[in-house]
Amino acid sequence: MKISDIYREKNQTLSFEIFPPKKDDELRNIDETLSVLCELKPDFISVTFGAGGSANCNRTIELARKIRRDYGVEPVAHLTCLHYDKREIDAFAKELEYEGIENILALRGDANVNVPAKDVFRYSSDLISYLKEKHDFCFLGACYPESHPESADRITDIKSLKKKTDAGAKVLLSQMCFDNDIFFKFSESCRIAGIEAPVIPGIMPVIKASQIRRMVDMCGVAFPDRFRRIIDRYENDPEALFDAGMSYALSQVIDLIAGGALGIHLYTMNKPRVAERICEGLKNIYDPATGLEAC
Ligand code: FAD
Repeated sequence: MKISDIYREKNQTLSFEIFPPKKDDELRNIDETLSVLCELKPDFISVTFGAGGSANCNRTIELARKIRRDYGVEPVAHLTCLHYDKREIDAFAKELEYEGIENILALRGDANVNVPAKDVFRYSSDLISYLKEKHDFCFLGACYPESHPESADRITDIKSLKKKTDAGAKVLLSQMCFDNDIFFKFSESCRIAGIEAPVIPGIMPVIKASQIRRMVDMCGVAFPDRFRRIIDRYENDPEALFDAGMSYALSQVIDLIAGGALGIHLYTMNKPRVAERICEGLKNIYDPATGLEAC
């Protein structure tokens, strides 16, 4: 099913993001995570794509196929374009089509010092424009509540985002965001700019202090004081940090749902424990049969 059709039927969705494990035995263990995630009947699960021409690429399709065939959940395959030419993109699209995978999160990807960019596709919108001429995929796009790091300012960034939706991105999944007010303002700016695609906030439950400091530096996202205090207080006690990180994420999710966000996209980091805790916290808020709008 195309993800855009899900948004026609439901007002709010729940989705998860996982990454393909690098080793074969880890790919087998992914079932532990998937069985927990799929129990909550998410609207879709997106599968990341190895950065910068990594050989791991085809694992994205392998895992997306597994999600669809073994768990009956709609997968979204991420696909970057900066390091690929038309022939490589065609091969990937053909394989997705063969597997019956209908949804692509179309991305530019990041520059990689070890792999030269091919300069065929400059932006994610180029990838969407190219593929939509030949295939019937539903395209999703990435968005950045605090602007993409390469954008000169917020206005330029939103204008680029409008080009992405004009090219054919039907749903926008956001970069992780720890401050709901920033997300709500961004969502409003998108509407003002005429972007009609649902804008779905990305939530990253924090379970390791080092991981989150690295991510915040890399992605340039704000680290609110309330959140920083929690990390500082519990960083040396992994179990306490897990509890505190999950509570922070859950409180964000509940506030977003209450504030009318059109869905929640949860970065699970392949941890069944993260999925379990979030599911537990949402059990009276999320009804798998009817979705987030039930309550
Ligand atoms: P683009 O949409 O191409 O934007 C890149 C920059 O160019 C931005 O500054 C934008 O404002 C500007 N721009 C865009 N279009 C135009 C235009 N037409 N004219 C002028 N300027 C323009 N990376 C991976 O390698 N693998 C993944 O699986 C992955 N998954 C992700 C999932 C999500 C939800 C998000 C938010 C990011 C993900 N990324 C992933 C990271 C992403 O590849 C990087 O953030 C990358 O730097 C930008 O990708 P993009 O598709 O947003 O780029």
